[in-house]
Amino acid sequence: MNVLCDQMLGSLATWLRLCGIDTYFARESLSDDDLLQIAAEQQRLLVSRDKQLIHRAQKRKIPAVLISTTSLQDQLLQMHHHISFPKDTPLSRCCICNTPLITVNRELAKQNVPPLVAETRKKFWYCPHCTKYYWHGTHTDNIIKTIENLRSTNREKD
Ligand SMILES: [Zn+2]
Repeated sequence: MNVLCDQMLGSLATWLRLCGIDTYFARESLSDDDLLQIAAEQQRLLVSRDKQLIHRAQKRKIPAVLISTTSLQDQLLQMHHHISFPKDTPLSRCCICNTPLITVNRELAKQNVPPLVAETRKKFWYCPHCTKYYWHGTHTDNIIKTIENLRSTNREKD
């Protein structure tokens, strides 16, 4: 399911995108009414730390999750209870703008990434909106590990 994170959940939004989940991150200027409307129109799960907002969503039958913790790890775990995380590896979606990434030819990417990266990495992805290149590294390894941990933690609870 697609997600809408409110203004307070920037880190969570970034991580959900890295996990491949279509995540709308609310700008500061959006009101609660705007958020409810976007969630309803785009059929997104509204995710917030604001009890009142969640209550209003539920009244309108908009699916919503109240995030009860400030720990990113616990927030991800909470999300994992509500939505299914894609099985394929991260780097399917830009963490900055939510645009789906495209795989790019290594020769083309080589001209646009640091030399050491160009030498040591085989696969590259590109965000056509941010014109940013992505590749697997320590950061994505951490994400993969985190997702695996979420899966096993949830399994233990079941
Ligand atoms: Zn982007």
